[in-house]
Amino acid sequence: MAKLTFLGTGTSNGVPVIGCDCETCRSKDPRDQRMRSSVFLETNLGTKILIDVGPDFRNQALYHRIHWLDGILVSHSHQDHIGGIDELRQINFIMKKSIEIYGTETTLREIQSRFDYIFKPTQWGGGKPRLELCLVEGDLRIKEQKIVPIPVMHGQISINGYRLGSLAYITDASFISEESLKLLNGIKTLIINALRLEPHPTHFSLAEALKIIERISPQKAYLTHLTHTFLYQRDSVKLPSNIAFAYDGLSINWE
Ligand SMILES: [Zn+2]
Ligand SMILES: [Zn+2]
Ligand SMILES: [Zn+2]
Repeated sequence: MAKLTFLGTGTSNGVPVIGCDCETCRSKDPRDQRMRSSVFLETNLGTKILIDVGPDFRNQALYHRIHWLDGILVSHSHQDHIGGIDELRQINFIMKKSIEIYGTETTLREIQSRFDYIFKPTQWGGGKPRLELCLVEGDLRIKEQKIVPIPVMHGQISINGYRLGSLAYITDASFISEESLKLLNGIKTLIINALRLEPHPTHFSLAEALKIIERISPQKAYLTHLTHTFLYQRDSVKLPSNIAFAYDGLSINWE
């Protein structure tokens, strides 16, 4: 069975939040400690795919012993989704080759300007990641795995969710068009962002995420990109039985 591991399930601040002593931020339950959102997928044939490279990537890679990436899918260029790009150089060192990183035109342009040193010639010896920027223009393939980009709105900007077989990963969405909903037809597992209880201009709230899940009606849905609003054990029981909060380190099977 193909496997997906949640490397991080937190919003941009992570949880605990610096300086906060709310119940969640003080919780000893590891499921209340959320690194920045990212998932690692391994297919039946062993192809290894990362979605987003947040600022916690180094710790996530160490914890889950990630040392090989056949490709990286990027949802968008906000810091909590690309801030760990420099850490990829150790993966390059082990793989002895560059890594293909996929995103929209805006995402790739932002990566080039924020990590400009990567793309400039510098003296030999300064370790830099080696990335091959790959523009997502439609369905793509990483080794044998077919991937369907799912355009969604994140406030005013268009970003990408990704569908791999019967699983879809959508983060940072605040609106999904009818056209994109069609691309999600027949999925069994949906991973979708649910920021907090109150509405937010650029992220689905819990109520909005639940509405989308009802519309798409997957067998199972996982909520991610969570703030400290949610206390895992207290709030899990309030969710419908086919919906769960994702937590760091959770592994699920998919096809
Ligand atoms: Zn984010
Ligand atoms: Zn807190
Ligand atoms: Zn964002």
